[in-house]
Amino acid sequence: MKIKVDFDLCESNALCVAMAPDVFELDDDDYLQLLTEDTTPENIDAVQRAVAACPRTALSLED
Ligand code: SF4
Repeated sequence: MKIKVDFDLCESNALCVAMAPDVFELDDDDYLQLLTEDTTPENIDAVQRAVAACPRTALSLED
């Protein structure tokens, strides 16, 4: 599955960064950056928690 971010919705509050730091990070200007679009067996649990926790529903998973 691929991780998608709706940057129009994201408010860069970094909840996803805290949950999955191997996938999400804030850049020097506090904008969210996606380090990888790919889910893996290692990151899928954290990514799914981040998707569920995003208060802006800016994260989604697509086949
Ligand atoms: S949790 Fe949602 S709103 Fe917050 S930085 Fe991540 S994608 Fe953006």
